Amino acid sequence: IPNTQNLDAFWMPFTANRQFKAEPRLIASAEGMYYTTVDGRKVIDASAGLWCVNAGHGRREIADAVSRQLMTLDYAPSFQIGHPIAFDFAERLAAIAPRGLDRVFFTNSGSESVDTALKIALAYQRSAGQPTRTRLIGRERGYHGVGFGGMSVGGIVNNRRAFATHLPGVDHLGHTHDLARNAFSRGQPAHGAELADDVERLVALHGAETIAAVIVEPVAGSTGVLIPPKGYLQRLRALCDKHGILLIFDEVITGFGRLGAPFAADYFGVTPDLIASAKGITNGSVPMGAVFASRKVHDALMVGPASQIELFHGYTYSAHPVACAAGLATLEIYQKEKLLTRGAALTEYWQDAMHSLRSLPNVIDVRAIGLVAGIEMSPRKDAAGARAYELMVDCFNRGLVLRSTGDTVAMSPPLIVERSHIDDIVGILGDALKRVA
Ligand code: PMP
Repeated sequence: IPNTQNLDAFWMPFTANRQFKAEPRLIASAEGMYYTTVDGRKVIDASAGLWCVNAGHGRREIADAVSRQLMTLDYAPSFQIGHPIAFDFAERLAAIAPRGLDRVFFTNSGSESVDTALKIALAYQRSAGQPTRTRLIGRERGYHGVGFGGMSVGGIVNNRRAFATHLPGVDHLGHTHDLARNAFSRGQPAHGAELADDVERLVALHGAETIAAVIVEPVAGSTGVLIPPKGYLQRLRALCDKHGILLIFDEVITGFGRLGAPFAADYFGVTPDLIASAKGITNGSVPMGAVFASRKVHDALMVGPASQIELFHGYTYSAHPVACAAGLATLEIYQKEKLLTRGAALTEYWQDAMHSLRSLPNVIDVRAIGLVAGIEMSPRKDAAGARAYELMVDCFNRGLVLRSTGDTVAMSPPLIVERSHIDDIVGILGDALKRVA
């Protein structure tokens, strides 16, 4: 166990720990569904790390692949030269990607995937002879990482207050607050598809010919598990098509099986032009992300005279061989254990379990879909977010890791979760909910 006396040198301002002046809860090791704390307690991980460890912790296949790759080829750039494993991994990802999105660009994180997707969208519009389409549209309460692009299309005002508000030419779809309150509906709420028509408001305001792309999380995760009403994403797709706007799904959370389908695009039956992904791509083991693009988008940028190429982009660590090795081993686990669709068979049990908490004190909404859930509590008058934060701390002390975000506690267990784990999660959470004031 490392020395844990000094908790000052490494700082992570982006956390409620600071707001509530708490020390971090320290984890020493992990295996399967469980963490072990530095003082030797086993706690069940209902967050899959940070929505990324989809195949469970400590997978030997990934560790072996990483160490083999480090000894074989630790690094080679993807600029001017390349390495076969990158092409192999891209091809295998393309095979599981939603139909038509079979061109893969590698990044190192969700934030990079988002900024990459936004750049691709803008460059595509120029290449397609639409240079006036420079406007990007996000959504209120959307979270798209912390790069300047993702922060700007992100719909969390507090996250960008100190940074000149946001990039010029960014706007946000509204009504997410209406999406947020699903009022105990199971899975997707039946009503509300017309909330997508807010695209028309922005088209009327700015003109369709100025808008390059709309980016949304199919299910918003970090702002409290916001589930789209039935038909909402279909309507968004239709409106984008009508107005020549690209549709980007940020599937950093929903990708790689979270909803019981490989991607949310599969789950909802809506195909965007671009998907930003990360997290589950390597089971959280080695940082990596990927952007999936349609042939149409890819070809507009990559086929044709080099002098017309509008996209200049790429990272030192794009397709890092070690990340590719981790990703290949991860994908093999996902396929062998059918994890990308495993959630489908468990979602009813998961929803029943979550909805069994609905009448406990302070609970004002339960939202569950696939293998993700949010329990929203009424905010305490004096301190918004404090109730969920205290609940999270109490759960940790009782042996359960979940995440508090605002007044919602969010859960997204590894996809290897069994019914008995779900029972344990709900048991601990239920006890904690009865106690939180
Ligand atoms: N988009 C979404 C939807 C996310 O949930 C996150 C991270 N939680 C990001 C982007 C940013 O990913 P990263 O932290 O890997 O940069």
